[in-house]
Amino acid sequence: MSEGTSPGVDEPVWLSGPAAPHRWRTPRRSRLPVSLLVVLAVVLGSWLGVRLLAPELLHPGPPAGYEEQPLPLGEPPLGHPTDGPYSFMQTQADGVTPVAYSPCRPIHYVVRPDGEPAGGDGLLATALARISQASGLQFVADGTTEEPPNKDRAPYQPQRYGNRWAPVLIAWSTPAETPELSGDVAGNAGSASVVSGGTSFYVTGEVVLRGPTIAQLLADGPNGQAVAEGIVTHELAHLVGLGHVSDPGELMNPTAQLTQTYLAHGDLAGLARVGSGPCAPRL
Ligand SMILES: [Zn+2]
Repeated sequence: MSEGTSPGVDEPVWLSGPAAPHRWRTPRRSRLPVSLLVVLAVVLGSWLGVRLLAPELLHPGPPAGYEEQPLPLGEPPLGHPTDGPYSFMQTQADGVTPVAYSPCRPIHYVVRPDGEPAGGDGLLATALARISQASGLQFVADGTTEEPPNKDRAPYQPQRYGNRWAPVLIAWSTPAETPELSGDVAGNAGSASVVSGGTSFYVTGEVVLRGPTIAQLLADGPNGQAVAEGIVTHELAHLVGLGHVSDPGELMNPTAQLTQTYLAHGDLAGLARVGSGPCAPRL
């Protein structure tokens, strides 16, 4: 069920399918600095007679629980498909349970608008609504950014985005700026996970769309519009955790984007799974 763990899953040309998803390594400090930090904290704590070993001292990210609610903010629709072919970008240690975003806090995103084609914002809105409807995950727009896409993007950028996990970056780009878009690849997406209480959670991610290619499709009439919507939806599905499938009737098939432009049975079942993960109050 789980898909390849190597970055660069089959990445066909855009005519035969959108881009290869990529994932970032879990951001964590090396063992040595953490150990030193623990020792220092213990020594200082004893010396000062206070407890300095609060969990957040060892946390590589922002303070825990930002916007986290006790219950999911949304849920997959009643009667959603529960079977059909789907796979996950990444699974927990059991090899079965998907890594997902906490459904109990919104997924913030920013858009780097340089090179955005006319109609690109509407395209994003349509695709985000599809993913939200199918998964129950809630997206919140934080406006625009000048941050360029970067496959090694830091998941925590307090100077740029404040004391929280960086919002998802959605960037319109070109192969010149983003080598992952070279060849005929139209998009690339993935999320960064961190471990909390033995469970991995996505905390932020990146979606890079090839602006000129999408512009060409949008200028191509209703069929091109449908294909473009399918490509952006496919990439956003990668963002929230879905991998590729071989069934050509699913949107997550990497080579069927000209004929399959909407979320099908297995796609919907998979999105319901990644939208039904546990909350992450300690993250
Ligand atoms: Zn893909």
